[in-house]
Formats: sequence, C-alpha cells, structure tokens
Amino acid sequence: MEHIKQCPFCAELINDKAIICRYCHSILGSGAIEKDGELARVRIKTNDKIYIGDVFVPQHMERVSDVINDTRHFIVLINAKEETKTSEVNIGILAINKNIIEWVRFIGYK
Ligand SMILES: [Zn+2]
Repeated sequence: MEHIKQCPFCAELINDKAIICRYCHSILGSGAIEKDGELARVRIKTNDKIYIGDVFVPQHMERVSDVINDTRHFIVLINAKEETKTSEVNIGILAINKNIIEWVRFIGYK
C-alpha cells in the first residue's frame, strides 16, 4: 500500500516521502531530508529568467552536476534571487522545473 499524506499548503494527497508537493511545489520539509552536504552557489537560466541561489549538494553527490542530473524533476534553490536588468529580487526558496532550465553555472561553494 502506498503511504500518502496531505499537503498542508494545497490539501492534495501526495506521497508520504515527498519533500516537494507535486501539485503546488511547496517545500514540505519532512521525510528524507539529508543533513550532510554543502551549499553551492549557482546561476540558473530558465526560458525567460535568470536566478541566483544556493543548491544543496548532499555528501554522497560530488558535484553540482550530480544534483542537476539526478532523477528529481525540480532543483530547489535556497536564498534565491531573480536577476533582472536593473536589480535583484529576493524570492527565498524556489523550486525550478528542470525542463525549463537552459543552463546552470556553478559559482562556488559557500
Ligand atoms: Zn501542495
């Protein structure tokens, strides 16, 4: 039997182990969150926007590219900012669908 729980944000039923809701993309912050790892600063270009933020690289993954190439559909950016021509807009936490990413540039570890 599948284990399910209810998303506290959109009330849809989702997999118990989900960290990001598949319906509303909220970060649920439970389940198998890995604690050991490093934050890597990256710049991400999507279809129409550029974001800067930190990606969590778990200890068992060696590089940012491992996170980008893993099986999850989203990259979670922490301390995310949207870069516009004139300024940076703070967003906070952002889940970006990998399908819309054009490129990811690694800036460095924090
Ligand atoms: Zn939800």
